[in-house]
Amino acid sequence: MKSRLYKVALSLALALSCTVVASGQDLVYARQQLDTLASEAFHGRGYVARGQQLAAEYLLREFQRLGLQPLSDNYLQPFSLEVNSFDSVLLRINGRTLVPGIDYLLYPKSGYGEAKKLKSGNKTAIFNYQNPPKSGKPSWEVLLETGHPKLTWSVGRETWPLPYFQLSGAATPQKIKTISYVVRGNFRAHQAANVIGYLEGSSNPDSVLVICAHYDHLGRMGSTLFPGANDNASGTALLLDLARHYSRPENTPAYSLLFIAFGAEEAGLVGSTYYVNNPILPLNRISLVLNLDLMAGGSQGLMMVNALKNPAAYQALDSLNKAHSLLSSIQKRDNAANSDHYPFSQKGVPAVFLYTMGDVTAYHDPNDRAEKLQLQHYPAVFELLQRFIQHWPNRIQP
Ligand SMILES: [Zn+2]
Repeated sequence: MKSRLYKVALSLALALSCTVVASGQDLVYARQQLDTLASEAFHGRGYVARGQQLAAEYLLREFQRLGLQPLSDNYLQPFSLEVNSFDSVLLRINGRTLVPGIDYLLYPKSGYGEAKKLKSGNKTAIFNYQNPPKSGKPSWEVLLETGHPKLTWSVGRETWPLPYFQLSGAATPQKIKTISYVVRGNFRAHQAANVIGYLEGSSNPDSVLVICAHYDHLGRMGSTLFPGANDNASGTALLLDLARHYSRPENTPAYSLLFIAFGAEEAGLVGSTYYVNNPILPLNRISLVLNLDLMAGGSQGLMMVNALKNPAAYQALDSLNKAHSLLSSIQKRDNAANSDHYPFSQKGVPAVFLYTMGDVTAYHDPNDRAEKLQLQHYPAVFELLQRFIQHWPNRIQP
């Protein structure tokens, strides 16, 4: 009796554990990683307060904890880049202090400077964002671009001689009488790194599937945080969740998996470009690069960039999606230099970029926050990728 009960309990436990393995994703884990990476402590994973380095060190520890193998001395592939960044920012127009990130942004290539109650006149260049001046004037001390329908920030790789503000339409007053401002910052070299972990395949280890996601974002503009929750703490969390799943011995795929969390994507695909010029495994061993960026949406399906050059990958993903009724659609578009798959594709490596569509409207602004993301479609996205990875490159029998 006792032993029969034990057997029943054991088979029940096995059945349960099989269910867990089959469903794969761990929403609690992914949510935790996303919240952590998008938190204040990582300073928007950019070039202020060592944010990006802190994130790299965090990911290194996570790769280690999950049991991924380093391919060199450690998991980091360091490189450096020059970036324009801002330590403190203030803008007051007609005596009213504006809210950074909401009312205005600094043009990413803005210079630095300070002024108190500068009267609008020949020292101030004020122009609508649709009509920038053709050339500068020596008298100018500050540039003010007005009327922006949507403020979108990025990373500057050079510095202009003057402070340069971009005002939202809502924050642009009828008449600008006085401007006070402070812009303190610097243009200098920063250390950055790609974080790389490897899982050897069980029967075909020479063939490598690369799963990558950039973990950097825009950092801070002064004290204003750009959390980059969808862009791309979400893709990084998904990468970690896939690494967590496949690092379990019972889930080892036939071919090898190379997980790369790229740095400095927002500065112009700098980390991935560095990687393809200094690959740790020969690029010709890569059967496909799956680049994950903006993965927190999904109500309007999933887009594959560079699908036209990779029809087998598109067909596989699309038929698995249909067979298992996961997302509303898988759409395709031609190649674009819009994320880390691109440097690989330029070297002739099969590489696609997947991003989710729908649910998230914030983009490169302070509203891209973790608490705004529902992750409703995350389990479906994970399952789709898991099924894809399981079948690739065996031309898919869903
Ligand atoms: Zn991104």
